[in-house]
Amino acid sequence: MTPLDLPDIRHTLHKLAEPSGAEKNTRALILQILEKQQPSQVHLFPDSRNILAVFDTGRPGPTLLFRGDFDAVRVDETLNLPYASATPGVAHKCGHDGHATILLGLAEQLHQQPLECGRVLLFFQAAEETGQGAGELLHTGILDRYRPDCVFALHNIPGVELGTVVCRPGSFTCSVVSCDITLHGRASHAAEPQKALCPYPAAKAITDRLLALNRYDMTADDFQLATLVEFRVGEQAYGVTAGDGVVRFTLRSKEDARLQAMKREAETVTAEETAKMPGLASEITWKEYFAASRNDAGAVESVRSAAADCGLPYLDKPTPFSWGEDFGLLTQHYPGALFGLGSGTEQPSLHHPHFDFPDALLPIGVKVFYHIAQKASCHFFM
Ligand SMILES: [Zn+2]
Repeated sequence: MTPLDLPDIRHTLHKLAEPSGAEKNTRALILQILEKQQPSQVHLFPDSRNILAVFDTGRPGPTLLFRGDFDAVRVDETLNLPYASATPGVAHKCGHDGHATILLGLAEQLHQQPLECGRVLLFFQAAEETGQGAGELLHTGILDRYRPDCVFALHNIPGVELGTVVCRPGSFTCSVVSCDITLHGRASHAAEPQKALCPYPAAKAITDRLLALNRYDMTADDFQLATLVEFRVGEQAYGVTAGDGVVRFTLRSKEDARLQAMKREAETVTAEETAKMPGLASEITWKEYFAASRNDAGAVESVRSAAADCGLPYLDKPTPFSWGEDFGLLTQHYPGALFGLGSGTEQPSLHHPHFDFPDALLPIGVKVFYHIAQKASCHFFM
C-alpha cells in the first residue's frame, strides 16, 4: 500500500476548514483515510461528529487512548496558501489540521507495525474549540466499555523550537469558563431618561468588581484571571435610553476548585449589584467550560521517555498554560497527559490569522505518539 502523504492530507484538511460542530466533510475525509488503515473497529456517534477507532492486537495488555482534534476556528484566512481555507471566516489557525493528520499517521503506523499487545483507541475529536467534543464522547459511555488505562493528546506550541516536547505533571492547561451576564432594566424616550431604568451603574459595578479578581502571577497559588470580553448597554438607537445591558467575561485558574469559587463570586457580585437597583433583573449564563488538564506523573514520564527515545529536546514547563483545552476533561476521568510540541519560534500565536501548522512537525508527532504506545505496550502499565 502506498504510504500516506501526511503534508498532502493536512493541506486537504486545511482547505476544508469547518467550524466546531459542523465538521461534516472533515469527518468524512478522515474516515475515508482511516478505514484504509484497517482498524479493528470504528465507532461513530449520532449526536456528535466524533470518531473512535480501535486498533486491537487481540492479546491482553494496556488500553491507551490518543486524541487528535479536527475543528477549525472562526478566523479569516489571510495567508495566500495554495491550500487556503475554502470556508469564508473559518480557518485552521489552531493547527487541528496537523493534530488530526498526526493521528492518521499513527493509525498507519499501528496498521503496518502492530503493537505487541493491548489495544489503542484513536479519538478523532470534533468541537474542541467550544469545549464540547470530549464531553460528548464521555456521555456516550463508550469509554466505560474500553476503560483506557491512559489517555494522551498533544497540542502544537508556537514560540517553542520545532519538535521540542513540552510537558509538566499536574495542571498543564487552565480551567476556563465563559459567562454572559444580562441586565434587564427599562427603556424610555431619550428625552425622558428619568423614566428609564438604565442598567449602566450595575453593569459598571459588576465589571469593576470582577476585574478586581485578577491575580496575574502564574507562579502563585492564587493565580486567577477574569477577562472582560464585552461590555455593552443599550444600542445604537438615538431616540431611546439604554434599558438592557450585557457583560461577558472569561474566568480561568490553574485548578477547578478555584474556578468554582470564582463562579460563585461572579454570581454573588451580580446578585448584589442587581439588588441595589430596584426593578432591575439579571441573569447569568455559563458556557464553554474547559476542565484543567490534570497530568498524571506516570503518563508525563512516558512522554518524557518517548521524547528521549526520539532524540527530541524536552522542556519541563514550570507553570501551566493559561488557555483551556477540552482534553482536560478526559484527564479528569482517566490518568493521562496533554503535552506540547513546539511549532517553531517564528510561528505566530495560536488563532493568529498568519498561523499555519508546520508540515515538518507531522512525522515528529506520529513518532512521539507511537513511541509512547510501543513502550506502554511492552511494559509500563503491565
Ligand atoms: Zn487548539
